[in-house]
Amino acid sequence: MGFPGLRDGKREKFRRYKRLTLEEIKMIQALVQSGLSLRKVAKQTDISYSTVYRHAVRFSKRQMRIDFSVFTERELGYIVGFFAGDGSRIAEKRSGHYGAKFCFDAKRDVEVASFLRGLFEKSGKPAALYREDTWLVMKVYSKRLLDFLYRFVRYAKYEGRTCKVLVDVVSWSRDFMLGFVGGLIDADGHIHQNKRKIGHFGADITTTNPPFAEQVVNLLNRLCLKPKVSKIKPCQTAFSKRTTYVIRLHKAEFCKVCRDLICIKHEQCSCETQSF
Ligand SMILES: [Zn+2]
Repeated sequence: MGFPGLRDGKREKFRRYKRLTLEEIKMIQALVQSGLSLRKVAKQTDISYSTVYRHAVRFSKRQMRIDFSVFTERELGYIVGFFAGDGSRIAEKRSGHYGAKFCFDAKRDVEVASFLRGLFEKSGKPAALYREDTWLVMKVYSKRLLDFLYRFVRYAKYEGRTCKVLVDVVSWSRDFMLGFVGGLIDADGHIHQNKRKIGHFGADITTTNPPFAEQVVNLLNRLCLKPKVSKIKPCQTAFSKRTTYVIRLHKAEFCKVCRDLICIKHEQCSCETQSF
């Protein structure tokens, strides 16, 4: 075979763990483009499947389209909420790659990551997780997904930087908003857990984006919730130079909806609160 990285006995074990060279990456991409499945390419080159996936999934002809009809209104809201909190767009005009990238804390958010991956897999879209330093990263290449997200989240300029703003929130259904809140908490929020690890006191959503903070407060008001917002001024020595807005739902407020959310962080609290 003419490819430098193909199976040739001795090099197998060593190759599996080696960082790929540019030539090797191009080679696996060419193989996938030629119509071989990701799994076949992994086997043939003896490079792990996740590595092949990461470098070449966007060239796969078998790449499935997302079927949005499998999602409930709440699940759609969750995906949008998570994206608004911790996602970023993939929009590479030159190569024609579009989609979304999601980041998770590799220690704390493993369950959240596998839940979101499960959602995409349910819709027929494979989504691989890989590790980057202390992060788990998931890239979903899909123009349809990005177009869908843009219906609800837009990028806008605010004081010289680009930040996300929500689109047409007044038209969002209650179910969609509940999904959104759960996704946002899983991405950028925190549940204050009871010390006995049963139940919770309430939830926080943090953001450094003022227009977004205001929109989230309005959205919570539409769900008949009254959050309290506090500002944390940036400390000179702190890493972040921006004011952080903490949107807090105290216990009585959060308990009005907590059972209705899709929210992995909430599920981890073994909440036994009855809905008010
Ligand atoms: Zn609860």
